[in-house]
Amino acid sequence: MKGRKLLMIPGPIEFTPEVLRAMGMATTSHVAPDFVESFGQALERLREVFFCPHGQPFVIAGSGTLAMDVAAANLVEPGDKALVVNTGLFGDRFAAILERYGAEVTQVRAPAIGDAPELEAVAAALGRGDFKLMTVTHVDTSTAVAADVRSLAALGRETGVLVVVDGVCAVAGAEMRQEEWGIDLALTASQKAIGVPPGLALLVAGPRAMEAFRQRQTPVGNYYADWTNWLPIMEAYEARRPSYFGTPPVNLIWALNVSLGQILAEGMMARFARHRRVSRAVKAAVTALGMEQVPLSAERTAVTLTAPYYPAGVERTVLGAIKDAGVVLAGGLHPAIRERYFRIGHMGAVSASDVLATVGAIERGLAWAGYSFEPGVGLAAAQKALGE
Ligand code: PMP
Repeated sequence: MKGRKLLMIPGPIEFTPEVLRAMGMATTSHVAPDFVESFGQALERLREVFFCPHGQPFVIAGSGTLAMDVAAANLVEPGDKALVVNTGLFGDRFAAILERYGAEVTQVRAPAIGDAPELEAVAAALGRGDFKLMTVTHVDTSTAVAADVRSLAALGRETGVLVVVDGVCAVAGAEMRQEEWGIDLALTASQKAIGVPPGLALLVAGPRAMEAFRQRQTPVGNYYADWTNWLPIMEAYEARRPSYFGTPPVNLIWALNVSLGQILAEGMMARFARHRRVSRAVKAAVTALGMEQVPLSAERTAVTLTAPYYPAGVERTVLGAIKDAGVVLAGGLHPAIRERYFRIGHMGAVSASDVLATVGAIERGLAWAGYSFEPGVGLAAAQKALGE
């Protein structure tokens, strides 16, 4: 029997064999010509994946939290005002990071868990303060709520604030067109829809964000994160010149270039459509099995993950039974409801068969937990949605 489990959590995800092979290759010098070419190409490809032809990409060893830290460190000066559009735990995290660099943070919170703030509420908050920057979490992984990034970015632009998007659970899975939508900085990490093992913080800063950085009156309060150190490195690699500030994670950057190549070969629109289709299938199965979801409206639900509440009488132990049935899912993350829901990640190279395997394992777990349902009802709903 095969011992391997299917990893269907909201990051890290299942990676393609080609990406994993790049991780296993003999590591070269970070100034070797092949590596320089690969790094340079990855930087160019990031612009395409973020839809930001005039942006400056940064690839730095670290996780998504470092990407948030880099954004805050370089864009915020002590006393600057920042507005956080909060749709869950990662909004709280961004607020804490911004405060660490001296920002005065105002949060516009969702009226309830699973909801997103109304555009009018964000507009009113923007109108009340003299904000330098606004952050939006595209998909908050703790609630599976997707913010209306496009409209929020348009609002931000009207008010003249810098628009920063935490796209950790979205970029390369949920549609985001950085430049066209007026997003000044978008960031993600390697381990989600980008499809590379954990370890890379990825950012693309548009011209207004770079200009704000250049206009700083005070030094960046974080040596490692400082773009003064990283900008020449990114420019050099893109010009196919070796350079050094901190040793780049050579194998991860090879893997990144392989994955970005696969993403662009699939085509961004096809990739977004596949994520929507897979998401519809998982959500249809969850609904057919009688489970409610954390997001309060279908309109505000993420395409990269699904967050069902356990049905009555079923507890967290069901995740162990689902794992025994072959699929690893994630527990709850939002502290207020942690024990009441679980999370199914479906991004990156996820296929229709992965969806069916996952729904099948969920059904077997629910049956183990003594939950009463018609076997196959979730699978049928998923099949139907996949065929539409
Ligand atoms: N923002 C969002 C929306 C996330 O989902 C995560 C990770 N779950 C992070 C930030 C932080 O990323 P990391 O765990 O890689 O530091």
